[in-house]
Amino acid sequence: MTTTATVRPDDASATALSTTELAAVRADFPLLERTVRGGKPLVYLDSAATSQKPQVVLDAEVDFYEQRNAAVHRGAHQLAEEATEAFEQARAAVAAFVGADEAEIVWQPGATAAINVVAYAFSNATLGRGGDAAERFRLAPGDEIVVTEAEHHANLVPWQELCARTGAVLRWIPVSDDGRLDLTNLDALVTERTRVLAFGHVSNVTGAVAPVATLVAAARRVGALTVLDACQSVPNMPVDLHELGVDFAAFSGHKMLGPTGVGALYGRRELLEAMPPTVTGGSMVEVVTMESTTYAPPPQRFEAGTQMVAQAVGMGCAAQYLDELGMEGVARHETELAAEMLKIADIPGVRVIGPLGADGAGEEISRLAVVSFVVDGVHAHDVGQVLDDKGIAVRVGHHCAQPLHRRFGVAATARASASVYTTVEEVVAFREALAGVRAFFGAE
Ligand code: PLP
Repeated sequence: MTTTATVRPDDASATALSTTELAAVRADFPLLERTVRGGKPLVYLDSAATSQKPQVVLDAEVDFYEQRNAAVHRGAHQLAEEATEAFEQARAAVAAFVGADEAEIVWQPGATAAINVVAYAFSNATLGRGGDAAERFRLAPGDEIVVTEAEHHANLVPWQELCARTGAVLRWIPVSDDGRLDLTNLDALVTERTRVLAFGHVSNVTGAVAPVATLVAAARRVGALTVLDACQSVPNMPVDLHELGVDFAAFSGHKMLGPTGVGALYGRRELLEAMPPTVTGGSMVEVVTMESTTYAPPPQRFEAGTQMVAQAVGMGCAAQYLDELGMEGVARHETELAAEMLKIADIPGVRVIGPLGADGAGEEISRLAVVSFVVDGVHAHDVGQVLDDKGIAVRVGHHCAQPLHRRFGVAATARASASVYTTVEEVVAFREALAGVRAFFGAE
């Protein structure tokens, strides 16, 4: 597979993307050239929902269908061989990108599916599946699952459901007024009863980076397993899962410049080996009789059915593209854009939900360019509409994080979010447009 990014910062560890580099990056994304709403240039500030895709990713998918299309891991013909090779090379690229071993990356349709695989493994184990090896996944009534009040529903509802199925109890780390996790009572929340600590790496509402080291240490102290929702971190900052020391992680292709319909579950090898499957059927088995089935080792054990091969190939290509761009530079670009976005807090009537500065809990990068806000006297949907009229695409609603919105006493926010192709000029255009919103509605 050939990718790849047009540019690479000379010293990725020291620089954000320069103007020239950024122009070259933007040229890689065909969709950014289109206009919207009667010929206005598109200002796409909704990358946290889904990112745009560079031409190399689109080409990788087309190339797969044009040249290699076949089902993987089956068939003795050349196409099946080539498809399998592309599929596994993509796995290797994604694994290398997030600091994991190949066998620790399981293809999934997305992060939501990935988190559900882990949650259902716990309930299957609790039902007695998986033999002695699965002991670690067995829950008893009174066991506790700890999440945070900041979670995306994808990392909350599966744990609520797991509790309902098993009698385990859900607890959560609260969020403080500045939008960061309030760790004041962490020791009382993460105790000997805790079996799972599931948390987002970067909030898709506040942009805040969680103090992963502190949370992992707390979980380890009591023998709980950690599940990291890395959906918003993997596309925008360097992530090394081995270094972070989490037990499981989930992320989606479509948020990291890759295709929809594909994502990854990371699991530490020994845990995946011990974990019972959740989705069962073809391709994940060793021996099947009419009475029973033995399962393939991971990652195949968790990849039942015909796989999303073209999408996986696209996701592998996206990982390589980002890697060649240099994630240190990408993170610096994000940090710069976050600072530009946060200037909206100076607009009268605009309130940002989340940290206003880069004062993290000891984390090197403490917030990314995901900024949610409310405008006094104007509903978020109306804010979105006025911006859209000017060609500026932001997200409106609860961003699949209703508890966090409830915490801040709002039903909905508008959210601007960036990616590698976002420019400061776009953020300035957004700020200027936002400054006129209250006057437009006579809300001043
Ligand atoms: N977690 C976070 C933080 C997200 O932002 C999202 C997507 O919005 C998800 C999980 C779910 O990802 P997907 O819908 O791709 O499964």
